[in-house]
Amino acid sequence: MTETRRVAIVTGAARGIGAATARRLAADGLAVALLDLDEAGAKEVAASIVADGGSALGLAADISDAAQVSAAVARVASELGAPTVLVNNAGVTRDNLVFKMTEQDWDLVLTVHLRGAFLMTREVQKHMVEAKWGRIVNLSSTSALGNRGQANYAAAKAGMQGFTKTIAIELGRYNVTANSIAPGFIATEMTRATADRLGRDFDEYAAERAKAIPVGRPGQPEDIAHTVSFLVSEGAGFVSGQVIYVAGGPKA
Ligand code: NAP
Repeated sequence: MTETRRVAIVTGAARGIGAATARRLAADGLAVALLDLDEAGAKEVAASIVADGGSALGLAADISDAAQVSAAVARVASELGAPTVLVNNAGVTRDNLVFKMTEQDWDLVLTVHLRGAFLMTREVQKHMVEAKWGRIVNLSSTSALGNRGQANYAAAKAGMQGFTKTIAIELGRYNVTANSIAPGFIATEMTRATADRLGRDFDEYAAERAKAIPVGRPGQPEDIAHTVSFLVSEGAGFVSGQVIYVAGGPKA
């Protein structure tokens, strides 16, 4: 164990899984930077972490824009310290059957998830390499295994797994681990939007989805935050290049 206060960056932290992860890492004793397109939301979650006695900074950044990524990471380094934990969580869905899917919807989903994780990782790994310590967690999904209406998202989330394994190989020599978490059905704005798109009441939709989940309930953002907490912990340094399905059972 070390006494160093680690600095974490969580993307897409204004709500949902990212917000729960930022809260959990702050409760674990890390200083946390919350990046999101939604600046007000990121600042609001950061303020609630500070009110609870944690250290947090909310920042606006589009993770698919290299200049914004570079500026945001520089600000985190100067205000909180060198970031050595990165959770690539920000994401979007633009679901449609492939014959109706537009090029814009394909490009946006691939860009936010894959280009976003790439740009963030490229920027933050400099600090990890210098510190000779780092933890990267990339959000994949059970949709990586295939999911009707999500050709773009499934491709992006399968891509996250290959990206994770490759950076685990490249950065391992610097004592940096990289792992993916592939959540199943988690109750957030993202799954609420899916229910809306299908014209379904969210609670009914979630109850129906829960019937196919072995533990018999939808996941909560805190379920994913707990797994992130483990993967970024000091003791998890020999776990790298893995994909952990956090789905209440063995498959989607
Ligand atoms: P969410 O509630 O929709 O939150 C995603 C956050 O990411 C939003 O605050 C969004 O901001 C932000 N974001 C989107 N594009 C961004 C960009 N270019 N730059 C910075 N921030 C951006 O989603 P969630 O359900 O918590 O999901 C979090 C992650 O887990 C995603 O990667 C998702 O694919 C993955 N996941 C979720 C589930 C699930 O069941 N919920 C299952 C498997 C995997 P705006 O609102 O301003 O767009």
